[in-house]
Amino acid sequence: MSNPCAGCNKTVYFAERLVAMNKDWHKVCFKCADCKQTLTPGKQSVHENKPYCKTCYGRNFGPKGYSSGNPSAVNSYVSK
Ligand SMILES: [Zn+2]
Ligand SMILES: [Zn+2]
Repeated sequence: MSNPCAGCNKTVYFAERLVAMNKDWHKVCFKCADCKQTLTPGKQSVHENKPYCKTCYGRNFGPKGYSSGNPSAVNSYVSK
């Protein structure tokens, strides 16, 4: 009995099978839905049943105001 891959909906064979979020995946299909980097099962963040890396999850769904402002401005010279 095999379930289709939750990422691409194709058959998952045993050798390439990965179980995460109670679904079967190809190892290469278990990746961030945004930046496409491969994820370690158990380390992913989940939004609407899609896996995300911590970075993309924080950027897309994290608390508002976390990354407000221009980061380059922080590194400007401090005059003393
Ligand atoms: Zn797949
Ligand atoms: Zn990502």
